[in-house]
Parts: sequence; structure tokens; C-alpha cells
Amino acid sequence: MKTTKTTVIGGGLSGLYAACYLAKKGVQVTLIEKNETLGGRARAFSEKGFSFDMGPSWYWMPELVDELFNDLGEKRENYFRLKQLEPSYRVFWKNGEFTDIPSNMSALENLFNELEENGSVKLRKFLKDAQVKYEIATKDFMQNPGLSWFELINWRALKNALKLDVFKSVESDVAKRFKSEKARAILNFPVLFLGEMPSRIPSLYTLMNYVDLELGTWYPEGGMHALVKALETIARKEGVEIITGKSAESFEMNESNISGIKVENAILKTEQVLASGDYHFIEQNLVPEKFRRYSPSYWNKRKLAPSCLIFYVGVSKKIPGLQHHNLFFDEDLTAHGKQIYENPSWPDKPLFYVSATSVTDSTTAPEGCENLFF
Ligand SMILES: Cc1cc2nc3c(=O)[nH]c(=O)nc-3n(C[C@H](O)[C@H](O)[C@H](O)COP(=O)(O)OP(=O)(O)OC[C@H]3O[C@@H](n4cnc5c(N)ncnc54)[C@H](O)[C@@H]3O)c2cc1C
Repeated sequence: MKTTKTTVIGGGLSGLYAACYLAKKGVQVTLIEKNETLGGRARAFSEKGFSFDMGPSWYWMPELVDELFNDLGEKRENYFRLKQLEPSYRVFWKNGEFTDIPSNMSALENLFNELEENGSVKLRKFLKDAQVKYEIATKDFMQNPGLSWFELINWRALKNALKLDVFKSVESDVAKRFKSEKARAILNFPVLFLGEMPSRIPSLYTLMNYVDLELGTWYPEGGMHALVKALETIARKEGVEIITGKSAESFEMNESNISGIKVENAILKTEQVLASGDYHFIEQNLVPEKFRRYSPSYWNKRKLAPSCLIFYVGVSKKIPGLQHHNLFFDEDLTAHGKQIYENPSWPDKPLFYVSATSVTDSTTAPEGCENLFF
């Protein structure tokens, strides 16, 4: 017997997972998604034999995703298989030169020895420290519910954090340890995913280098959307009612209790809401004014991570020289970053990324064609 009617707003990865988790705990769940298809930023679309993942393309930390499946009493491998990419990715430099980043540690050490003197020794020390940070983040903090600042007081973690000087920037940490421009660029790259420049991200986040270089880059067969499809299958199996193509417009609340959600002139009765859309949007548009925690002026002062411009291109021939993931670092990162972050504008000489899934997955493009995501 299901208890408590809960409505999940948003059918992206977090909303879908939350719906599965609640349904599994015996909660009666309805999920409402404004788009016609599920996945949110991880949506997919197909056209003329090409199938594109619209957002995420890097599958890192596979063991954490597997743990999420385990928590649902499921096995990820019953839904999709993962393959490790080799090389993990290719970095293009000026003048058409490139470096492949191997998934194998001894090949990676050889590469760092080629990049600079004692490169492998420095790399090993750097990754050992990065591993400690990764363990602090995943074991000491990530599993906490995030309900109180006291969760952040963990003496063991704090001692390690101070020892590793995690508050200096990623850029200065890397620059202190490595001299070669290429080694520095390779090690500064992963934190770009966090929407800031390495010079403004604390070196705690070199944990991403451990994730990148030690744990590897993986690909779910069929594309990143395989994860969305798996969660949708589990949600339906657990009895989640899924409504797509409809927007939640506002919450009906009396005092602090929620009684319903307005959806296209109708009220969807509910006892609880779990909103997985962007915090700023949900709070300022759906929550009645008197229950909002923050004011418009608070939000106006926040700096949001930048957007990106994406092209999905199907090409009627194979493009030689590409790997599955390709980073074009053939222009100056600092100049690129200044134009984006300090004086927000389009960079004159942008660095960019190309994912060519058809290099390793023949199902994402017709035969003899290439599937490109810029
Ligand atoms: C271009 C791009 C590349 C990325 N690359 C990677 C990557 O390589 N690897 C990686 O791990 N992560 C990557 N990410 C991040 C990852 O995609 C996101 O963190 C993740 O998909 C967010 O999921 P979410 O469910 O929290 O949010 P969302 O995907 O934003 O889901 C929120 C959902 O709520 C819905 N919604 C909002 N308001 C309403 C409403 N009022 N009524 C009904 N529905 C509503 C939205 O339509 C959306 O479907 C990338 C993101 C982007 C944009």
C-alpha cells in the first residue's frame, strides 16, 4: 500500500532518480515534466539516422552510479553496459599537434615523462593527493543529507584538507608541481566542467584529476541517454505516474503546508513536492512569495555558471583524426576565460570540445557517417 502522495517536478536525472527512490520506499509518486521527453539536460534526439545526447557526454565515476542502482535494489548492468574509452580523450594543441590521454597508468606515466623531467614521479604524488581529496569528498561529505552546517565539521577531513592546502587554486597547485605547459593544460582541464576557471577553483577539486586519470572515462552503450532510459524503466516498474509535456506553474500552500500544484488551469492535489528544476527558477516562480527564502535582489547578486553554445552535426562521411572525446586547446585558455568570466562576451578565439560518439558507437550515426557534438 503506497503512502503520502508526492509530486516530483522535473524528469531530468535527479527528478527521475528521486521518483524511483521514493516509489521504492512505498511513496505514491507522480512525476511531472514540462518537455515532451524525459532527461532534462540529459535529453536525446534522433534525426535521419543520427542520435545525439543533448547535454552530458562524459561518464565519470561509474562506481557512484552503480551504487545508486544498488540503492534501488537494481543492477546497472541489467540496463546498459559500460565500456572504458581508450584513449580516454585526445587533446589538440597549436599547429595540429595532439596528445592522447591513455586510460592505462603506466602509459600515462610514460606520457608525463615525455612532457617533463620526473613527470611520472610528480604525477604519482599529485594523484595520490587528489585521491585523498576524492575520498574526503565522497566518503565524508557527499553522503550527508545537507541539512546543517554541522555536517561540514569533520575533524579528520579538515586536518587532511589543511595538510593538502585545498584552499589555494587548482591553477596554482598545478603550476607549483608541473613546469610543462602541456602537463599543466591537461591537469587544469577537468575543473572547467565546474563552470569556472582553474584560477578561481579551490584545489580541493583536483579530486577531478583522480577521477579523470585514475578512474577512467566510460561510455554507456547506446549513449548517455541509456541512464535516463534505465531510470524511466525502473520508475514505471515501481508504479510512478509520469506526466510529460505539462509545466508545474505554482504551488498551492496554506501556512507551510502544500496542498496542490497548478498545472494548466487545473490543481494537481499533492501532500509533498520534490522540485528538481533549477533552484532559482522554482523558488522565484512557483513558491508563493511569502514562503520564498530569497529575494530577487539576492538572486541578482549571484553569479550563475555560464551557458554554452552547442552544435549537433551529422556528417555524411568519416572525419579522420578524431577520437570519441576531443579537446581543442589550440588557443590561449586564459584569454578565452577572461572574455567569458571577466567581461562576459563571446571569446574571439574560443577553445572548444568535440564529441564524436560514432568513433566508438556505430549505432549513433548511419554507416560511413560521423556524429559530432561541438
Ligand atoms: C551541455 C551540458 C553538458 C554536460 N556535460 C556533462 C557531462 O559530460 N557529464 C556529466 O556528468 N554531467 C554533465 N552535465 C551536467 C548534467 O547534464 C546535469 O548535471 C544533469 O543532467 C542535471 O540533471 P537534473 O535532473 O538535476 O536537472 P535537469 O536536467 O535540468 O532537469 C530538470 C527538469 O525539470 C524540468 N522542469 C523545470 N521546471 C519545470 C516545471 N515548472 N514543470 C515541469 N518540469 C519542469 C526541466 O524541463 C528538466 O527536465 C552537462 C550539462 C550540460 C548542460
